[in-house]
Amino acid sequence: MSGHKKTFQCGHKGFGQICHCCLQLETQDRVQRAKKQNWRNSFDLDPIDLDRLPNYVVLKARNIINRLQGCSDYRIFKGKRLCHDRLVISIPITRNYRMLCIDRDGTLQPKQVISHGEYNVTKPGSLLRC
Ligand SMILES: [Zn+2]
Repeated sequence: MSGHKKTFQCGHKGFGQICHCCLQLETQDRVQRAKKQNWRNSFDLDPIDLDRLPNYVVLKARNIINRLQGCSDYRIFKGKRLCHDRLVISIPITRNYRMLCIDRDGTLQPKQVISHGEYNVTKPGSLLRC
């Protein structure tokens, strides 16, 4: 008799040979794991280390890195040269994060992303903008 709900070993109730509830959860879980894996793998493609940053900072930083390849005018990104080292340009990513780039003959090379705290702490005084 097939129209009868039964209780599976997992505790869910349903019809058929397998629990569709668990099947769905398993599929969702697999999709989630694949997403996480893709996200982790995506860091291999970044020219600089971004994997300890919040996700939204990572995405914004990547956006800037991509756009820098087509346009090296840091002023478009509200970038500023540092006082103590005119070859280093600081580009704001969010309120709390900025990307340091090196100016190599007019081409900007992303160096690292640092938080506002690090920015002020790394070298006291020396990273102040002009
Ligand atoms: Zn189940």
